[in-house]
Amino acid sequence: MKISRRIEKVKESPTLAITAKAKEMRQNGEDVVSFGAGEPDFDTPPHIKSTAIKAIEGGFTKYTPSTGIPELKKAISDKFRDDNGLTYEPSQVVVSCGAKHSLYNIFQVICDEGDEVIIPSPYWVSYPEMVRLAGGTPVILDTKQSDEFKVKPDALKKAITKKTVAFVLNSPSNPTGCIYNRSDLEGISEVLINNKVTVISDEIYEKLIYDGEKHVSFASLGKEAYGLTFTVNGMSKSYSMTGWRIGYLAAPSKEMAAAAGRLQDHSTSNPVSFSQKAAVDALKGDQKCVAQMVDEFKKRRDYMVDRINRMKNISCLKPKGAFYVFCDISKTGMGSFDFSKKLLEEEKVAVIPGEPFGRDTHIRLSFATGLDDIKKGLDRMDNWLKAR
Ligand code: PMP
Ligand code: GLU
Repeated sequence: MKISRRIEKVKESPTLAITAKAKEMRQNGEDVVSFGAGEPDFDTPPHIKSTAIKAIEGGFTKYTPSTGIPELKKAISDKFRDDNGLTYEPSQVVVSCGAKHSLYNIFQVICDEGDEVIIPSPYWVSYPEMVRLAGGTPVILDTKQSDEFKVKPDALKKAITKKTVAFVLNSPSNPTGCIYNRSDLEGISEVLINNKVTVISDEIYEKLIYDGEKHVSFASLGKEAYGLTFTVNGMSKSYSMTGWRIGYLAAPSKEMAAAAGRLQDHSTSNPVSFSQKAAVDALKGDQKCVAQMVDEFKKRRDYMVDRINRMKNISCLKPKGAFYVFCDISKTGMGSFDFSKKLLEEEKVAVIPGEPFGRDTHIRLSFATGLDDIKKGLDRMDNWLKAR
């Protein structure tokens, strides 16, 4: 049977594949330390779980409106107002099966065949594939480590062509952990506004930020920025709810939200009913659980960054947000796949190669794993590098 040309071109997700491989090795009794995880290792907070259980027991197990239940859309609209200074009516919000799904919907809604979408590199692995799946052309815009991997306005200007329809902004970033502050955003917003480029602002790591950094939503910069922006967020990272599959987008108009809604009507229908109830509780309930997670992540980040920067031939910047360290391995002389494969085979330490993030000179380590395991994995890495 033939596979469509569209799907034939799509690569498997290396983040998911390597994480699964490390899990499988561990289940087979191998003593693997995995720095692959793209999800918090903490349990979903108990009050959120009990809301879902009550919803199931109360029979809330049927179809809901395709784009989400009204109380969740209202809770999301309130969240945007309180956290981000953004006014979105519930009719501008579409709830989907994870932020990945929200992003997929957006590219489907805005891309025609051949339209170009600018993606700063390093990038999260799924953006280029999603653009291709929508018939668009990803245009990769390289950034420099010396600029903390942030896009500069001049470089952005040069990447824009007549075919450019959108720009992907991911702050805090997966994989680099960089955060665009207000003045960074103002710099690029001028270019984007002048060229009427749609902005897809993926803010999924918004709450996982350290050292008093402040998250600024691109759409909050002003009326013109708001009118160009889809703001994307979700429950996975902030509330340790990766398996619940609730993400959402806020569109610049009711009409754009309705377009995403029509796509969802004919593809997935509603996200899981009782997950939506749990999401309302997560957004409206006590936020202490988020602060506790951030405190723990910060301790691990500090430990990991300090250790890596004392190792032979590798180094990293200190990430300001998210839970990844993007580590420069260029001095080892190995490519990122080679490095990751050897480290897994020889030392049973799983890391994600940087190549699928656009950087073959780097690897990504997640610190969404306990401090004891982090110590063990870094000891192994340290000894392995010393012996080479
Ligand atoms: N954006 C980025 C940058 C991510 O790292 C992830 C994690 N998979 C997502 C979006 C999607 O997360 P989810 O679908 O679990 O909401
Ligand atoms: N976003 C996470 C990661 O980058 C989860 C895996 C995925 O969906 O790609 O590892």
